[in-house]
Amino acid sequence: MSSKIGGKLYRRTDIKLTLWYVFTFILSTLIICGFLYFRLKHQLIKEIDQFLLDETMEMERVLLQASREIHFLMRFEDEVMGRKYYPFFFQVLNGEGAPLYTSKGFRELGYVVSEEVLANVMRGKETRERFISSNRRTPYRLITTPVYKDGTLHGIIQVGTHLRFVRKNLVHFRNNLLAALLIMLALGTLGGWVLARRSLSPVGYIASKTRSITPENLSERLQARGTGDEMDQLIHTINGMIARLEDSFKRMAEFTADASHELKTPICALKGEAEVLLSKPRSPEEYQEGLTHFIEQFEHLNRMINNLILLSKFDSRQAEMNITPLRLDLLLKDIVNLFRILAEQKEIELIMEPFQEVKVRGDKIRLQQLFTNLIDNAIKFTQKGTIQVTLEKDKKYVTVKIKDTGMGIPREEQANIFKRFYRVDKSRSKDTGGVGLGLSIAQWIAHAHHGRIEVDSELNKGSTFTLYLPIYKA
Ligand code: ADP
Repeated sequence: MSSKIGGKLYRRTDIKLTLWYVFTFILSTLIICGFLYFRLKHQLIKEIDQFLLDETMEMERVLLQASREIHFLMRFEDEVMGRKYYPFFFQVLNGEGAPLYTSKGFRELGYVVSEEVLANVMRGKETRERFISSNRRTPYRLITTPVYKDGTLHGIIQVGTHLRFVRKNLVHFRNNLLAALLIMLALGTLGGWVLARRSLSPVGYIASKTRSITPENLSERLQARGTGDEMDQLIHTINGMIARLEDSFKRMAEFTADASHELKTPICALKGEAEVLLSKPRSPEEYQEGLTHFIEQFEHLNRMINNLILLSKFDSRQAEMNITPLRLDLLLKDIVNLFRILAEQKEIELIMEPFQEVKVRGDKIRLQQLFTNLIDNAIKFTQKGTIQVTLEKDKKYVTVKIKDTGMGIPREEQANIFKRFYRVDKSRSKDTGGVGLGLSIAQWIAHAHHGRIEVDSELNKGSTFTLYLPIYKA
């Protein structure tokens, strides 16, 4: 199977699929990475806060002991100044908000207590804030905690540390993510591209193969890969369409060949008869007899040509249908009565059971033609005997049966009699003048009315043609 996919870049499905794939890939990766980044940041800040709160608790304990607090705070500062990681600074204010002790690091920050912090203190709430030092542009974290003793504000503790390590960790993490993202993007794009090309590769084959199929090679088929996927389903669908086209091309060719043959035979016969008539001088009676015969033959040819025109109109869906609700029982009764004389001439008893009133939606002329064809056949293929016409109905369908006691149709032939130009035994239709179009026209009309015709017949005993039509309910 070739895998050529061509066309302008922006129109190519593989490019579009890859771009969509890359776009969704980037979007989802960015969301995941963003989530991880913020989770990490949150976690790191939480740890810093925990650390600052621990230190606050330590100082709070000292502050509440009342005596020697300044001395302790000085010692405390000496101790924390020496720490390499997370050195912290602090400030202790008394109950009125005046500084009691400010560590060296704190003084250098240039921090000013905001209104909001003070308001929180008054409400007994701690405040966690992040701020940037004015001189060094380093981010800091500061927790302000009020200390209460016997229900009154005893002091305020402010403990802070820089966030340099947090920032460094986050920058590292972000750089790693970015590197991973680039690698994943490159691999993802490649994977998406390969996937898109692979899944679309049969399209090129389908397009070029379908393009190469013409009326001359309609017997060729596309090769399915056997994977059972959508592409295989598409190939089966196209194959089905080609098969239907092949079938209808074949039927058209057969139809044309049959029609030419059916027209050629009587025309040749007529020509021969005319030549014989003209071969020597004849009496006026002989000419009259010959011309009368010609007229009969022309009428037969005319009927056949009309039928052929009708069938080709059916095929090209140009046959006009004038569908209206109509009383099928009345229509059938009229037609049966029209055939009475013909039946009597052949000593056939035409029995019509009393019909129930029934309405169908249909084209009156076409339905008349359908019944004419069926009753005409019954009379044509019955030598003496009876023809019984019945009409029954159930909830959905009306059933019309035309049962004769004629020559019948062999079982193996019954499936073919609705085909065009099909005659069971040409010799039996010789006298009747039929060319095998009547039943195909009748069946087409039945189908056009959402109905069908079935046949049940036994050789030398008779045939029953049954028509089913949907009942019209207003
Ligand atoms: P035709 O114009 O030859 O009658 P139809 O299409 O009407 O063509 O019928 C096809 C063939 O079916 C006929 O040639 C005939 O042999 C057979 N057939 C149709 N109706 C009957 C019937 N009622 N009894 C016996 N054979 C029938």
